Amino acid sequence: MSITVKIEIDNEKCVLCKLCVEYCPSGVFTMENKKLAVNESRCVECYGCIPLCPTSAIRIKVLDESTLRNFAEK
Ligand code: SF4
Ligand code: SF4
Repeated sequence: MSITVKIEIDNEKCVLCKLCVEYCPSGVFTMENKKLAVNESRCVECYGCIPLCPTSAIRIKVLDESTLRNFAEK
């Protein structure tokens, strides 16, 4: 089954500590113009970034094939 993820950063909580940028093994997070940029297509779903974030600013939603099909049909 094909699974993909949607990563959401709560910008009100994020303190730009860059821990996730340094930690993520896939380079999902980068700093661009002093903001956190997210390339979620690179995520390998290790979920290590979630407990790492000191302000719980990272949320990851898993979208499975049926969810994606619903999106595609709209
Ligand atoms: S670890 Fe959390 S607070 Fe730090 S930059 Fe990443 S999202 Fe922002
Ligand atoms: S779940 Fe793993 S691969 Fe995905 S963004 Fe977080 S640290 Fe990176």
